[in-house]
Amino acid sequence: MTWFACELHTHTLHSDGRQTLGELAAGAAGLGFDVIALTDHNTMSGLVGKEEIEQEHGLTIIPGMEWTTFYGHMVTIGLSEFADWRQAGLDDIDQGIAEVHRLGGIAGLAHPFRIGSPACTGCFWEYKIDDWNAVDYIEVWSGTFPSIQTNNRRAFDLWTDKLNEGYRIAATSGRDWHEQKETDEPISVTYLEIDEETADGKKAGGSRTDSGSKETPAGNGSCAAEKARDTESEKNAADGFAASVSLEDRLIQALREGRASVTIGPLLTMKLNAGGESYRIGSVVPAAGQAEEHSGTTAAANELISVDLLLDFSVRAGLWSLPEQTFKLKLQSNLGEELSLDVPVPVSAEAEESASDHGGHIKTETQNQAQQMRLEAKLPHPTDKLSRKWLRAELWGHMRGVYVRIAFTNAIYFEYEEGATSR
Ligand SMILES: [Zn+2]
Ligand SMILES: [Zn+2]
Repeated sequence: MTWFACELHTHTLHSDGRQTLGELAAGAAGLGFDVIALTDHNTMSGLVGKEEIEQEHGLTIIPGMEWTTFYGHMVTIGLSEFADWRQAGLDDIDQGIAEVHRLGGIAGLAHPFRIGSPACTGCFWEYKIDDWNAVDYIEVWSGTFPSIQTNNRRAFDLWTDKLNEGYRIAATSGRDWHEQKETDEPISVTYLEIDEETADGKKAGGSRTDSGSKETPAGNGSCAAEKARDTESEKNAADGFAASVSLEDRLIQALREGRASVTIGPLLTMKLNAGGESYRIGSVVPAAGQAEEHSGTTAAANELISVDLLLDFSVRAGLWSLPEQTFKLKLQSNLGEELSLDVPVPVSAEAEESASDHGGHIKTETQNQAQQMRLEAKLPHPTDKLSRKWLRAELWGHMRGVYVRIAFTNAIYFEYEEGATSR
């Protein structure tokens, strides 16, 4: 598995940015990004010269557009052609999202709680969404040092609420990058996971991050099947993505399926083991009956679940820093905070074992001179009548004197019995 460092929200001179696509690409490459999505306001004209610029900077550029309206901004990426945003009324954004899907793209809410008019016309999300299943992602972190901003906390809470309601929606960061201006504020990165065997279809810079895992991802139970989308990419997804599919399309597919992890520091990833199967971020752990039916294994969702967590401090080396401290690694779900583990960094070179304060079991192991840290935790059984619907990992710690969320994964989902109480 390979994780690509992505900046998913950018602008050029073709809208209100103060940079050319070449200047943007050079800046992104300098900051260790493998991928950018160009999301100019209501235009896709900024993509002229895309291929030469990609080659020059060893970067992949995903075509996109930010629907910029009075009722909200919506980032759309992966479109084959211009989608007409002008028809969107307060009550029919669902039609707009359907049009984006028809054109092969995906749609996300951009900075939904940023202050709107007169500070930033339409920046606050007012559209009424009929079907949240159609929403592919929410940009929960916007701008630089996003985790300290109140509007981003509200966006993060919106995402959590939707997960609690049972929707499977990805979460991303986006700098909303308008100009090449030096900043000493932490830069956020959305990492998207691409299968290694298919990742070499197109060269995309040298800094892609291997997650260090030797196992092949299980890939079962993709939540993407529940999303409306382009039939061609659906077919390819079912085939495990042929090598002929472009890296751009595979990145879009990764985000569509929620194979994403967001950070202003180390890359945090997790894998879950249940019923003899392995589940990666974005996948779905089947409910008891289904697991038996499909693989002959026992009730996966009811088994004791172990979680493998990996913190990779080597990503974008030299481009970010954190003070030495004891971090908190949390496992969060609709049931609340399920585990909270202390993670001292730098860690000792030897493997160590300790019990966490919640009775979970934690085993840490460092590799490559402490650049990677592997932790294993056991999830407690959900109590009677409560179903676990989703699970994500979060890294908390001090940055610039503030205690903040430093990184979070997208969710792994669980099939659950209808009618069971969720929280
Ligand atoms: Zn915007
Ligand atoms: Zn923007």
